[in-house]
Amino acid sequence: MPLALSDDMTIAERLAVVRDAVASAAKAGGRPAESVMLVAVSKTQPAEAIEEAIAAGQVDFGENRVQEAADKWPALKEQYPHVRLHLLGNLQSNKLRQALGLFDVFHTLDRPKLARAMARLRDDEGVVLPFCFIQVNSGEEDQKAGIGPREVDSFLKECREDHALTIEGLMCIPPVDEDPALHFALLCKFAERHDLASLSMGMSGDFELAAEMGATHVRVGTAIFGARRF
Ligand SMILES: *Cc1c(COP(=O)(O)O)cnc(C)c1O
Repeated sequence: MPLALSDDMTIAERLAVVRDAVASAAKAGGRPAESVMLVAVSKTQPAEAIEEAIAAGQVDFGENRVQEAADKWPALKEQYPHVRLHLLGNLQSNKLRQALGLFDVFHTLDRPKLARAMARLRDDEGVVLPFCFIQVNSGEEDQKAGIGPREVDSFLKECREDHALTIEGLMCIPPVDEDPALHFALLCKFAERHDLASLSMGMSGDFELAAEMGATHVRVGTAIFGARRF
């Protein structure tokens, strides 16, 4: 069912439409509306747009670049300390420390080196680690980051046994030209096998399907904020 969105709607109005759609989809999947967290993806959006969403009650926001988040968010976080920030993009190891200071949730743990570096900061400096998703490259696409489906089991084991990392769940971005349901189902299967409670899946084009299929976190940008600014 297409979302009832139009260009003349305010961010608050668009948020209300998206929230309703998330709630209906969760219920269609036999789960309470509150079981799906809406992460408003504010990459490229100016602080004013973010503040409009905060005024409309939005708490969780996603950014994909550490530098952009470092430019925009410290001031916003000071003003709105209850807001939570989610990292959705690739994280370079040399930005890890900075990212840990900015983000409450990492959706993109995607390689052993990063897992090792996180564990080291925790052990050596007592850094408190964020709520963490492993990014799964479910479509095995060369241009996408993430752990390949065949390596998920061993990477999880390494995170848990070698590094004592708490992994909360799995995240994926399905290939644009494939049925996302197949990828969401794969993620559900891995989560069940490994007793993981959280699934980050679904974007503007497919968040209803994801919410119905078991997502606990949907990441929605353009449906809330309109087209990106750059
Ligand atoms: C940009 C982005 C989104 C949001 O995409 P929309 O199609 O604008 O909803 C979600 N997840 C990730 C990882 C992103 O980079």
